[in-house]
Amino acid sequence: MESINKKKLIVLGASISGVGAAKLAKQEGWEVFVSDYGTIGAKYKTALAELGVEYEEGKHTMERILTADLVVKSPGIPNSASIIKTIKEKGIAVIGEIEFAAQHTDKKIIAITGSNGKTTTTAWTEHLLKSAGLNAGKVGNIGFSFAEAVANRSFDIYVVEVSSFQLEDIVSFQPDIAVITNITPDHLDRYNYQMQAYVEAKFRIQMNQTASNQLIYNADDPETLKYLQAHELKPNLQALSLQKDLEKGDCQKDNSLYLKDTNWVIPASCLSLKGKHNLFNGFMAAKVAQLLGADLESVIKGLGTFESIPHRLEIVAHKDGVTYINDSKATNVDSVWYALDAMTTPIVWVIGGQDKGNDYSSLMDLAAEKVKSIICLGLDNRKLYDTFGKLNKPMMEVRTAKDAVEAGQRQAVAGDVVLLSPACTSFDLFNNYMERGDLFRAAAQAL
Ligand code: ADP
Repeated sequence: MESINKKKLIVLGASISGVGAAKLAKQEGWEVFVSDYGTIGAKYKTALAELGVEYEEGKHTMERILTADLVVKSPGIPNSASIIKTIKEKGIAVIGEIEFAAQHTDKKIIAITGSNGKTTTTAWTEHLLKSAGLNAGKVGNIGFSFAEAVANRSFDIYVVEVSSFQLEDIVSFQPDIAVITNITPDHLDRYNYQMQAYVEAKFRIQMNQTASNQLIYNADDPETLKYLQAHELKPNLQALSLQKDLEKGDCQKDNSLYLKDTNWVIPASCLSLKGKHNLFNGFMAAKVAQLLGADLESVIKGLGTFESIPHRLEIVAHKDGVTYINDSKATNVDSVWYALDAMTTPIVWVIGGQDKGNDYSSLMDLAAEKVKSIICLGLDNRKLYDTFGKLNKPMMEVRTAKDAVEAGQRQAVAGDVVLLSPACTSFDLFNNYMERGDLFRAAAQAL
């Protein structure tokens, strides 16, 4: 990239990452133009105007875009989109905001990807590093622009949450420490229903790493192990397991996490978040902190003081002995498996939305054992009825979060939970998973 003269840079997509990229580019002396096919939010327009960056919305003016020396695109635009193909055919480089930001910093980069647990692990890692007195900050897919943080020279350590979409648009991105939390089916619609393509996109996180970098992985995850058996990777591999007694790597024994290199023993009971998945998330965050030289006392403190993030098994209300839990971010089958597994009382389960090609079979045993009734919150619930109808539990359909909560209240008795853990995206009835969760929370608190 160094060889490109700093001339015209076009940013495609004006949201958090696009505006951040525009800021960094402007600071670096590029002539910047932002183009968004949709409507640009008011706060982003203000930010661009303050930066003195020209923009367009509701269209892509190709004549102008094709004059670019470099294009930074939003991860929401797939590489298969015709606009991207046209730009690449002209020989213009197209990269993502993560790549662009990383090219402009020499600070430490911790990059976290995976199908589930990215946000929790990223935030928890930041929390542990801060507890240990390090100037670390979370950026990326977690809602903070990496490029903007680099422009502001905010941190000495960037903890970057990266999605598989963002990994498609890296070129030289080389994290000092990479983490793959797990790889289970998700977003397969974007990968032509090819699991292999999705796994490969995730492993791009380490493609530029060398033997001086670390790759932390989940040694209990079959897809990860399959990939590692078939490929010789360059980075130092750091295996973590909750299930196996690893000869090389760190594992759980007698309800404690053992991190061998520094002889750390961390009792599982000191973690603030519950559920097996959170034990793993905390384990990975602790491993990063260990590799960065944090002290055990700060790490144990940080594992205990981390607060849960909204929409992830978030307890939102207690009413008449019934607990209402918002897990709206559980938009795939594996995350729901962990939610059902973590429940210790009968569940009135709110499920549904837009299905990404889900195979629900792994949920059947848990649902048979723990779920007492099923509320389908989606436009098209036929697949749910076909699948879970076999369990012979009461099932009903609703179209709003409020109706879901009220139906839940009618189905539940004291001691039960009403759990929104939908296994699907929200776009059929809501703008996004946050709106779905916020409406669920508001309805539960209004009971
Ligand atoms: P991501 O950023 O990868 O979507 P989140 O931390 O936001 O991950 O969690 C998304 C959903 O997955 C939530 O429902 C959460 O309870 C669940 N989850 C969190 N960590 C894990 C994990 N390690 N394995 C499986 N599910 C998880």
